[in-house]
Amino acid sequence: MRLGFSILWILIYFLIPVYAQQNEESRNHMVERQIKARGIEDKAVLSAMRNVQRHQLVPKDQVRNAYEDRPLPIGHGQTISQPYIVAFMTEVIQPEPNMKILEIGTGSGYQAAVLAEIVDEVYTIEIVEPLGKTARRNLNNLGYSNITSKIADGFYGWEEHAPFDAIIVTAASEYIPPPLIEQLKDGGRMVIPVGAPFTTQHLMLVEKRKGGKWKTRNLLPVRFVPFTRN
Ligand code: SAH
Repeated sequence: MRLGFSILWILIYFLIPVYAQQNEESRNHMVERQIKARGIEDKAVLSAMRNVQRHQLVPKDQVRNAYEDRPLPIGHGQTISQPYIVAFMTEVIQPEPNMKILEIGTGSGYQAAVLAEIVDEVYTIEIVEPLGKTARRNLNNLGYSNITSKIADGFYGWEEHAPFDAIIVTAASEYIPPPLIEQLKDGGRMVIPVGAPFTTQHLMLVEKRKGGKWKTRNLLPVRFVPFTRN
C-alpha cells in the first residue's frame, strides 16, 4: 500500500515536468511554423505567443489540439481564434509595455493573456456569462493580475477606464461601434473584423488621428463569430 503510494508520487513528480516541457515544445513549434513563417516579426508578440499556456485556456476536450493551426470550439457556439490571427491582431496594434488596451470578446481569455504578457493593463468584456466566468477563473489561475474583465455588451466599451491606447474586437460586427471609436485615444489603433455574420469579413485597422478624425484600412479577409447584442 505504502509502496504503491510512493510510486504514484514518483510518477507525478516526473510526469508533470515532462508534460510541461511537451507543451513548451508545442508552443515553440507553433511560433516557428505558424507565426514567424507567416511574417510576424514583433519580438514582444513572438515571446508572448511562446509564453501563454493556450492549453490551459481551452476546454478539456480540446487540450490536445491547443497548438494546432486553426480555431477551436470553446462552447456556447464560440471559438478561440487560430494562433496566427491572434498574433497578427496583436502585432497590428503595436503594443508597448506602458499601454492600456481594451478587448471586446474575452472568449477563452487567450487574446487577453497574450496582450497581458506585453502591456500594463488589459480590460476585456464578454457577453456570454459562463464564458466570461471561466475565462476569469483560468486567467486568475495563470496569475494574470493585470487583466480586468466584466460581463457586458462590449458595444458600449468601458467608459470608466477610457481612453484606451488600443482596442481589439474579436467578434465580427456589421459596422464599427461608435462608442469604441470615442474611447480610443488620439493616435490610438483599433483592429476589428467588419462584415456580415457567417460570411467572410474584413479585418480593419482604425487609426484615430489628433483632433478625433479617423481613417480605416482593410488588412485581411477573416471569419469571426458574430458580434451579438443583449
Ligand atoms: N478573443 C477570444 C475569441 C473569442 S470569440 C479568445 O481569445 O478566445 C468572440 C467572443 O466575442 C465570443 O466569446 C462572443 O461571445 C463574444 N462577443 C460577441 N459579441 C459580443 C459583445 N457584444 N460584447 C462582448 N463580447 C461579445
